[in-house]
Amino acid sequence: MITTTPPLVIALDQGTTSTRAVVFDGKGKIQSQHQLTLTQYYPGDGWVEHDPEEIWRASREVVMAAVAAAGEGRVAAIGITNQRETTVVWDRKTGRPIANAIVWQDRRTAEACARLKAGNLEAAVQRRSGLLLDPYFSATKIGWLLDHVPGARARAEAGELAFGTIDSWLVYKLTGGAVHATDATNASRTSLFNIADQDWDEDLLSWFAVPRAMLPEVRDSAGSFGTALKSLIGADLPIMAVAGDQQAAAVGQACLGPGFMKSTYGTGCFALAHTGPRQVASKHRLLTTVATRLGGETTYALEGSIFMAGATIQWLRDKLRLFDDAAKSSDLAQQADPNSQVMLVPAFTGLGAPYWDPDARGAILGLTRNDGAAEIARAGLESVSFQTRDLLEAMAADLAEAGEPAPHALRVDGGMVVNDWFCQNLADLTGRTIERPVVTETTALGAAFLAGLGVGAFASVDEIAAAWRLDRRFEPMLPAAARDARYARWQEAVAKARHRTAD
Ligand code: ADP
Repeated sequence: MITTTPPLVIALDQGTTSTRAVVFDGKGKIQSQHQLTLTQYYPGDGWVEHDPEEIWRASREVVMAAVAAAGEGRVAAIGITNQRETTVVWDRKTGRPIANAIVWQDRRTAEACARLKAGNLEAAVQRRSGLLLDPYFSATKIGWLLDHVPGARARAEAGELAFGTIDSWLVYKLTGGAVHATDATNASRTSLFNIADQDWDEDLLSWFAVPRAMLPEVRDSAGSFGTALKSLIGADLPIMAVAGDQQAAAVGQACLGPGFMKSTYGTGCFALAHTGPRQVASKHRLLTTVATRLGGETTYALEGSIFMAGATIQWLRDKLRLFDDAAKSSDLAQQADPNSQVMLVPAFTGLGAPYWDPDARGAILGLTRNDGAAEIARAGLESVSFQTRDLLEAMAADLAEAGEPAPHALRVDGGMVVNDWFCQNLADLTGRTIERPVVTETTALGAAFLAGLGVGAFASVDEIAAAWRLDRRFEPMLPAAARDARYARWQEAVAKARHRTAD
C-alpha cells in the first residue's frame, strides 16, 4: 500500500472494566482514544459476568469513532488485546451468546477445580497447560455453561456452539462471523491448550469435558485474523494482531526475551518474566504462559498475579476514607512514623500467586496507639511492594533452578505507577531497579506494535524494543538488612492472614 501520510494502527483494548480504541502512529504515539465503561454483573456470591452483546456493541462503537477520528484511508490495521480467560459460548448460526460471559474473576467453579485436584490431576494439567487448577482459567467456566444452559452440551458436541475468549468473540463479530480464531497467548490461558505442542490437548479436553468441535483455530499473535467489515465499523480493515492483555503489555514494555520482566499495577498486579523459547515449569506456584507466537516461533514467560494492587488504594479511599483521591495516598504515607511496624495484608478475596489461598482474608497487624491514618496508608501502599517481592522471589527461584538469567530490572506500568513514592518504595522493598517507561499505556501499545509487525511497519521485534523509551529509573536506597527485616515481618503477617482459625 502506498500512502502519502504514515499509516495509523488502531488498538482495540477490551478490558475488564472498559473497552477502548486507541489510535497510534507508526512511532507508537497516541493520536486519539475512545472509551466506554462496561457493566459488571454480580449474580451470586463470587460470581462475575459481562454481557457479550454489550462488549460487542461497545467495541464496535469505539472502533468506529477511532476510524472516523483517524480519517479516511489512514488506518492500516487493527490489533486486538483483551481481558483474558473470560469465557463466551455462542450459537454458530445466529451469532448469539447462549449466556452471559463468565469473567476471569468468577469463583463459581471452585468445586469443579477441587474435584479435579482430588483426582490428582493438577500436576498433569500443569505439565500440559502451564497452569494450576483454579477457577480463574476458562476450561471449568466452559464446563459450567455446558452443564447449566439447557441442551448446551449436546449442541456443543454437535458442533452448533462456539467457544471463545473475548478476542475470539470480537474477531467473530468484526468479521461478520467469517473467522473463528484465537491467538496462542489467549489459548494458553484456557487450560485446554498444550503449550509445548501448540495445539488443543486431547487429555485436557477429556478431563475438563470440553468438546473439540467448539474450539477456535489457534493462530500467531501477529498475522491475519480476517477483515473487520466496513458495514460494521465504517471501513474494511485487516485485523492483524491478537494478544491477551498481559502479553500485549509485555510487548509494549519491550519485554521480549530472557532477562526482561514487567509488572502492571492496575486493579490487580500481573508480573511476567520472559524466558525466551524455553518453557520453564514453575516449582513455586507461578504459571507458565505463552509470551508471544510470531512467525510460528513460540516464546514463554513465567507469570504471577496479585489480586489487590490499586484495589487496596481504592479500599483505603472508599472504605476507610483516608483520602479522597488515590493520588493523595502518598502524601499521607509520607507522614507516617518511619519506625511504625504496621502491616496491611489485602487478602480481601484470598491471595493469588504464589499462595493461591482462597480462604485467606485481609488483616491489619502490629498496631500501637501511636499508629494512625498515615501508617495505615503507608502499609497499604507497601503491601503492593511486598506482594511484588513475593512474586519476584518465586520467579528468581524458578529461573535459577532452570539455569535462566536473573532479570536485570523490573519495568512497571498501569495506573499506580504515576505515583513516584510507590515506585521508590517498590525499589526499596524489592531491592530491584524499577524502570518506568514514557508510555504507560503498554497494553494498547503492545497490540498496536503487534499489528504493526503484522502489516510490516516493523520488520522484527528488535525494532519494537528500540522504540521503548525510559521515563525514570528508581534505584533501591534502603539497606539490604532493613529490607529483609521488613520482609520477614510481612511474611509473618501473611501467615497470620492465612491461618486465621489457628489464632
Ligand atoms: P485497571 O486497568 O485495572 O482498571 P488502572 O491501570 O487504570 O486499572 O489503574 C487504576 C488503579 O490504580 C486504581 O485501583 C487506583 O486505586 C490506582 N491508582 C491510581 N492512581 C494512583 C496513585 N497516584 N497512587 C496509587 N494508586 C493509584
